[in-house]
Formats: sequence, C-alpha cells, structure tokens
Amino acid sequence: MELLLLGTGNAFTPHGRLWSGALLDGRLLLDCPATALARLREHGVDPGGIEGIVLSHAHFDHIAGLPFLLLEYRFRVPRDGPLAVACHPGTWGAVQRLIDLAYPGTFPPDLLEGLLLHQPDLTGTVAGIGFHRMPVHHTSHLPCCGYRLSCGGKTLAYTGDTGPGPELDALLDGADVALIEVGESRPVGGHCSPAIIRELAGRFDSTRFLLTHVHEDDGALGSLEDLSNVHLLSDGERVEL
Ligand SMILES: [Zn+2]
Ligand SMILES: [Zn+2]
Repeated sequence: MELLLLGTGNAFTPHGRLWSGALLDGRLLLDCPATALARLREHGVDPGGIEGIVLSHAHFDHIAGLPFLLLEYRFRVPRDGPLAVACHPGTWGAVQRLIDLAYPGTFPPDLLEGLLLHQPDLTGTVAGIGFHRMPVHHTSHLPCCGYRLSCGGKTLAYTGDTGPGPELDALLDGADVALIEVGESRPVGGHCSPAIIRELAGRFDSTRFLLTHVHEDDGALGSLEDLSNVHLLSDGERVEL
C-alpha cells in the first residue's frame, strides 16, 4: 500500500510544509487539513475515489478541510454513498459544528447524512481497511486518538498529535510502520520532540518511523539522521508501506 503525504507541517505551517494529512492507498484520508482538496488535485487524485477518513482529533489543522470536501461532493463530484468518517464521538460533534459554521444551511441534516457516515466504533473497517482507534495523550480539552490500520499484512500506527506515554507505547506495540509527529526540541506537553522520537525509535527498533506534523526546524531534526528506522517526510512524498 502507498501513503501519499498531502502535507507534513504542524499548525504553524513551517516553510515548505502545509498542514499534515495523508492519503492511504488512494482511498483513505488520514485527517483532513484545510489544504487537502487542493493537494489531491495537485497530485491528480480524484476526490470522488476517496472512501473514508480517520480523524485523530478536532484541532483545526486536522479537520478544517472537511467543509471544502463536502462542497465538492455537494456541487461538483456527487457521491454514490456517504463518506465513512471514523472518529471519536466528541470529534464528530466538532465536525458537525464546523460544517454548520462554515456553510450555514448548505448541508441540512438529511443531506449531510447522505454525504458523511460517522463510524464511532473503536474497531471496524473504513474504506476496506481494518482499524483500531485508541486514545492518545495530547490535550485535555479534546478527545484525541491514534489508529492502528491493517495495510496489506502490515500494521500502520497513526498519530495526529500525541505526546509520549503508555497510550503511545500501546499504539506502537508491534507496529511495522508509524506515521508520527515530530515537534519542536523544547519539551511541549502532548507532543513528541526529536529527543522523544530518538528514544521511541530505539525502544521500538523494528518499527519504521515516518515523521510528519513537523515543527519549524530549530536544528534538532538533523540529530535523527543517523537512525536507520527513522525517515523525515516531505510534502508530496509517496511512501510504499
Ligand atoms: Zn492537535
Ligand atoms: Zn496538529
């Protein structure tokens, strides 16, 4: 399976990096940043071919693209069926409020039901890909989740934002690949600094760490270059899992 990086920056959009999001196997979005639709077009991906989304949490850098995607489906690329959205019920509530705020009256409940289908379960299948949603430590103000995704016999662990701790360890346990954030080098609660990534990469040494949601490089990212199981991603990069 292929992972296409639609963006690899954090909320501050450091130079050369737009907000983080990825497309798995051409059909499953991993979060939906404001620039997702523009990036799909740039890479020649038909938005109509997307079958599902997993959302990590409701910070705007992860969900702000949903209203634009819905406009596309409402007016330009009609869907045969709803887009499956796997996320925490609290995240789903934020998505509903966002859509109502963004385009009042454009997506009445019956129409929205035909466009988006919430999947609140902790385990299931979205876009034909098995998932397990797990809590992670990021902020106490929002429910935040990571996902273990079944990718052609391999397990991909995905975090939108998360700090270290037992929740992250559980998410990474036995994963073949981890798509994970790397933040700034000073300690910031609910985020992984380069030093934390180094520690994780040493402890989970059979996991391939793909770094995204990157903070402006303050010189610390270079310290990870010697790690054979760590790779710093770029916008537009395609990675075979
Ligand atoms: Zn966040
Ligand atoms: Zn974020």
